[in-house]
Parts: sequence; C-alpha cells; structure tokens
Amino acid sequence: MEEMKLESILLPGIDPQRPIVIAGPCSAESEEQVLETAKNLASKGIKIFRAGIWKPRTKPGGFEGIGVIGLPWLKKVKEETGMYVATEVANKDHVFEALKAGVDILWIGARTTVNPFAVQEIADALRGVDIPVLVKNPVNPDLELWIGAFQRLYGAGIKRLGAIHRGFSSYDKKIYRNLPLWHIPIELRRRMPNLPIFCDPSHIGGKRELIAPLCQQAMDLSLDGLMIESHCNPDAAWSDAAQQITPDVLDYVLN
Ligand code: PEP
Ligand code: MN
Repeated sequence: MEEMKLESILLPGIDPQRPIVIAGPCSAESEEQVLETAKNLASKGIKIFRAGIWKPRTKPGGFEGIGVIGLPWLKKVKEETGMYVATEVANKDHVFEALKAGVDILWIGARTTVNPFAVQEIADALRGVDIPVLVKNPVNPDLELWIGAFQRLYGAGIKRLGAIHRGFSSYDKKIYRNLPLWHIPIELRRRMPNLPIFCDPSHIGGKRELIAPLCQQAMDLSLDGLMIESHCNPDAAWSDAAQQITPDVLDYVLN
C-alpha cells in the first residue's frame, strides 16, 4: 500500500488547537432535544455537533435510532447554530441519506469497522465525495483491521480521515465499559503519524464520572480531539443515559 497522503479534517472555522471537540447526544430523539442540546453546546463554543440517527444495538428491542426523519433536525442545527453536524453511517443507504441531508462529517462505528464488507461498501458509496470520515476502532483490539478501514476509504479517494479511539470490548467489565488499551491508539499514531486521533471517553468509560479523567489522559497522550456524548437531559436519554453529560458539565470538563 502506497503511503497515504492525508488532507486536513479541519473544516473552515474549526480551530486547529487541541482538543478539537465533537459533542452531542448519543442519539437524535426529537427535534426539541436535538435543537436544545445543540444550541446549548454552541453557546459554549462547540463547533461540531454529533447525533446518531441509526443506532447499532447489541440486542433487538432497544432504541434503534430515529432514522431519516431526524436528518432535517440536523439541517436545522446547521441553520440555527452554524455548527457542523456529524453522524454515524453503517451502510451505503446511510451514506446517501446523510449526504443528501448535508451532513458535514461522517463516522463509522466500532461494530461496522470490524466488517470489511461494510467498510468497503461505505468507501465505494463515498467515491468522488470530499468529506471528512472518522473511523472508530473495531470492538476487538485489532489494529490491522482499524488500519485496513483507513486503507479502504483512502483507496476510494477519501483523504480527510481521522480515527476515534472508543475502547475495546471485554467480557469482564470492571471499571470501563470498553477497555482503553492506550497502547493501541499510540501504535496507530506511530504507524500513521498524520492521522488525527480523537478519544471518545463516553464509550470507553460508560459512566459520567469517568469522562473528565479520560479526557485528561487523552490530552496527556497527545491525542488531537475528543468526541463526547452530551444531552440536555442525560437521565432521560433513550440510549447510553449513564455516560451522557449536560452541555454545562461538558463545558466544566473542558475548561
Ligand atoms: C456512538 O457513538 O453512539 C456509538 C454507537 O459508538 P460505538 O460505535 O463506539 O459503539
Ligand atoms: Mn452512544
């Protein structure tokens, strides 16, 4: 594989200073929840809003995402706050719908990165599109699989790439929801020095009180950015309630 010549993921107006912050709810639930959270985050200076539209759930019966009806809400976030918006895509249909709705940044989730067919399908759907794509680590601690996903996207002409470290599954869950295994993102940095790496403390920690120390660790290890789940009413969140923080707490953690 030729050396990857990556381009910046920094869209106009995004401060290159560390950390680059992406924040927003695990899931888009309603127009009110999305807009209230986004406006609150924007007032704290957050420029990139995340919200899951399609949610990969471990078991059926949970909230599997609001689906395409939530995409106009993200458009409204852009119009009313000037934020960029990011969402997760897991197949080509998600890619087409997200692009049609003007989503600015896409990310590939941990359960999708494990599947080379799915990653290739997403890469092929993005051929000829210039959009930043962030790739979460696969759920299993396989650095080659993670790098393979970047190679598939790069091979389809996607040059604005970034990584999101969200921890790795384990059978015994003690402190963390997903083990950080920091040596893996550090090795990724050695192998792909120009690739920006975000830390997702929300999915590593799985609980609010771990967000601040995990953010600190990510910064101490020179990671470039943070993706943090933030909800206007975390206890009432339809997914990942225990790990979401209010925009006020997020502001406190970052400052
Ligand atoms: C998410 O970001 O809400 C998500 C589903 O994350 P992950 O792919 O890390 O499990
Ligand atoms: Mn989540």
